[in-house]
Amino acid sequence: MSRVAVVGAGTMGLTAAYHLLKAGHQVEVFEADQIAGGMAAHFDFDGISLERYYHFVCKADRPTFELLAELGMEGAMRWRPTSMGYFYQGEHHAWGDPLALLRFPHLDLISKIRYGLLMFLSTKRRDWSGLDKLRAHQWIKVWCGERAWKVLWEKLFTLKFFEFADDISAAWIWTRFKRIGTSRRSLMQEELGYIEGGTEVLVQRLVERIGELGGKIHLAMPVSEVHIDNGAVTGLTAAGLRHAFDAVIATVPLQFIPRMIPALPQDMRDQYAALKNIGVVCVVHKLKKSVTRHFWLNVNDDRIEVPGIVEFSNLRRFGDDHIVYFPYYMPTTHPKFSQSDESIAQESFAYLKLLNPALSDDDRLATRVSRLRYAQPVCPPRYPESVPPVATHIKGLQIADTSSYYPEDRGIAEGARLAKEMAARVR
Ligand SMILES: Cc1cc2nc3c(=O)[nH]c(=O)nc-3n(C[C@H](O)[C@H](O)[C@H](O)COP(=O)(O)OP(=O)(O)OC[C@H]3O[C@@H](n4cnc5c(N)ncnc54)[C@H](O)[C@@H]3O)c2cc1C
Repeated sequence: MSRVAVVGAGTMGLTAAYHLLKAGHQVEVFEADQIAGGMAAHFDFDGISLERYYHFVCKADRPTFELLAELGMEGAMRWRPTSMGYFYQGEHHAWGDPLALLRFPHLDLISKIRYGLLMFLSTKRRDWSGLDKLRAHQWIKVWCGERAWKVLWEKLFTLKFFEFADDISAAWIWTRFKRIGTSRRSLMQEELGYIEGGTEVLVQRLVERIGELGGKIHLAMPVSEVHIDNGAVTGLTAAGLRHAFDAVIATVPLQFIPRMIPALPQDMRDQYAALKNIGVVCVVHKLKKSVTRHFWLNVNDDRIEVPGIVEFSNLRRFGDDHIVYFPYYMPTTHPKFSQSDESIAQESFAYLKLLNPALSDDDRLATRVSRLRYAQPVCPPRYPESVPPVATHIKGLQIADTSSYYPEDRGIAEGARLAKEMAARVR
């Protein structure tokens, strides 16, 4: 059995550690942060235990259900009928089902039929090899036409990907259509899920099982270097101390790899360094009043600089409080990424008042701003050709992050699936 180090105690790293321990390996997890969970970690939000970044579960997230079952948490999933809305140039519209599409006043009937067909066929499609060669905006325009692209998509892409908006793979966006499009109770009713108590409950259970199986989790112990000798992993340095290992699974953002593993060949390090990512400044407000009856509200309004908001309490309830996430995605070079928490909190609340003019300053109970530099991988067409494989040519070294299950988008489920695969490769 091997001595294995896992770098990163996000859900992928913890799941990998859990499977490694079950297979009989000796496992240590190294995490830079003070707490486990990574993007799925919680914080105390004015008395509520809440994710820094919203998390919902879809019916297609099978690896999550399998992991929950293994951990004895089958009963933890909760499902609710949810809905989507569209705030288009100052007006609210229903969205996300065929009737809402037909009633949407800003598109002609032909565009609506084409859009509906794209969404429907996306839920049926399995093969993504052709889509991997196409750009998302071109694919959507071919299917839905120029007008639908302008009305429904252009702003959403620009406000999420900025200068990268024209270079996103069609395969990547297709998996998003499919994941959401198949999370339904019926044609007319979307249904999303969440873990009772939040994603932290899964994180804590993994931490607990890792402990029970004899694994160690070192918090506040950033790994500065992974060591390689003669084409094989020999160990790592964390918090200034060198530790010997036979295998390492790194789950940190791929952009960290060139610095963390300087012994990798230059061409490989160049490949990791060239990958693009989008940051997020995620504001969450606790409010006395609801902003919208929808879980997800798409926003296309010249006065508002985000492509959508998530009224999370329309999925997971928090008594009388309303929890609204306001994710500002942007490249970290954007000036707004460095704007102060208070000014971004004020701005986002002003936007909420545009979305619901009945909101007043008295309705804002608490606000928290979280920032993440590597929040969303940018996956252009033929993405897999631009990134080294998860199982590297170095003996014992596997490297993955949220882009490694492309074309699937970042998500707990795909991370859990890949973690299990990586653990099974360790001999
Ligand atoms: C705004 C937002 C919304 C999301 N919504 C959803 C959703 O609705 N549903 C869903 O399924 N998923 C969602 N996700 C994605 C989901 O959170 C991620 O896919 C998942 O949490 C990633 O887990 P991970 O372990 O791969 O990475 P991470 O959680 O990023 O874990 C990597 C860990 O490595 C640590 N680390 C970094 N450098 C070092 C170092 N040098 N040494 C040691 N440790 C280090 C980090 O601190 C971190 O804890 C969302 C993400 C964001 C940002």
